[in-house]
Amino acid sequence: MDNPWGSRGVVIIGGGVAGVTAAFELRKRGYRDAVTILEAGTFPHDRPPLTKGFLSGTLSDDDVSLYTPEAFAEEKIGLKTHASVLTIDTHDLGVELRDGTRLDADFVVLATGGLPRIPAVCEDSRESIHWVRTIEDARRLKRELQPGRRLLVIGGGLLGVELSYTARELGLAVTIVEPVSRPLVHIVGDRLADWLHAHADQAGIVQHEAEVLSITQIDGLFRAELSDGSVVECDVVVAAAGFEPNTRLAGQAGLNVRTGVVVDAGQRTSDERIFAVGDCAERHESGEVYRGGHWEAAKLDGERVACIILGEAAKPHSLPWFWTDRGELHIDVIGQFADCEETLVRGQFGSTSFSVIGLNNGRVAAAACVNDPKTARQLRKIIENNVDCTPDELRDTATDLRRILKR
Ligand SMILES: Cc1cc2nc3c(=O)[nH]c(=O)nc-3n(C[C@H](O)[C@H](O)[C@H](O)COP(=O)(O)OP(=O)(O)OC[C@H]3O[C@@H](n4cnc5c(N)ncnc54)[C@H](O)[C@@H]3O)c2cc1C
Repeated sequence: MDNPWGSRGVVIIGGGVAGVTAAFELRKRGYRDAVTILEAGTFPHDRPPLTKGFLSGTLSDDDVSLYTPEAFAEEKIGLKTHASVLTIDTHDLGVELRDGTRLDADFVVLATGGLPRIPAVCEDSRESIHWVRTIEDARRLKRELQPGRRLLVIGGGLLGVELSYTARELGLAVTIVEPVSRPLVHIVGDRLADWLHAHADQAGIVQHEAEVLSITQIDGLFRAELSDGSVVECDVVVAAAGFEPNTRLAGQAGLNVRTGVVVDAGQRTSDERIFAVGDCAERHESGEVYRGGHWEAAKLDGERVACIILGEAAKPHSLPWFWTDRGELHIDVIGQFADCEETLVRGQFGSTSFSVIGLNNGRVAAAACVNDPKTARQLRKIIENNVDCTPDELRDTATDLRRILKR
């Protein structure tokens, strides 16, 4: 295939936030050779709105797209959609597409994201159940979410619960089945995990702590038998059991793959001309293993790989941060509660807006802020800069965290 922007250069496989960020960052930093994104889907789009505004109908295709076609053209970034890469040639570096064309490369960036994990119990009904990873998945599900229908969500993690709130807003009866008791405990601590569980009850979401043992389909209706002895009948089933890093190409190319594509601190795979970023990557650094799964980390990977290809110093990896929306609740989570020795509450727990703060050795190590993104940003800086503050200062909403940051 002729590359419209010149020969070789950087070929990025995957047009999600990680791949697209890498392309624009390369241009921003003055990379002059060809930059090409090969995207298997219809257009480069973001994922977080798919279970939120896009599913509820408040956001359009344009709202979820990552940059306009004009922006790609202006930056001379070659974008080929419906371009599924079949293989990476590591001998003479390049990629081969499903349609038989080939593109040579100086560097390849794997940004292939993740694939939804479909529980084995859903295998027989795979054709008729749903999941949400792409805009096409979300569109297909959206058509089914009609008021008065009954939805079964398999998996009570972040995505499953978020999607359940959206379905409630749309007027569906929703049941979540999740075998793990309080699956958010290690993410937000036990008190907030319990509160969020109760909030979902109050939103009318029926929650079963159970496994789905079988699903049968009769006349378009589903019947699920659960390990707690109950039976759920429903019109729509969504599998929301997490994702697997999409490692197929890396595996075929003989790169080191474990759960994800193994990369070092510089996003390099076991072949130094090939990088991996975002949800497909698994970073091994200083004896620790870091996996993706959140938007900001994927974006940062994209920025970092551009610097590394250009031989520039890359921003360090940052604290884990993500957000999730559940009805009127917007929750920002920073750091790891699992590492914390104690927690305290800023504001009134359970009110419209409050934060749970995790401490380790007397320092702030994690925070979960409900409807308070400003406090989340400030606490994040406090953690990143290891700023000393007393528990009383943290608890008291009258304390100006910006002033603490200036100490
Ligand atoms: C529904 C949903 C909601 C989410 N909500 C939040 C949230 O609220 N907060 C948060 O922090 N995170 C959220 N996340 C997680 C976050 O969106 C992801 O971590 C992020 O999108 C990962 O970006 P990525 O570029 O690595 O992968 P992706 O966005 O998955 O992009 C990978 C791209 O690679 C393409 N591709 C794969 N294989 C090939 C191939 N062989 N050839 C060509 N192209 C290929 C795919 O088509 C895809 O477009 C959510 C994720 C989902 C799915």
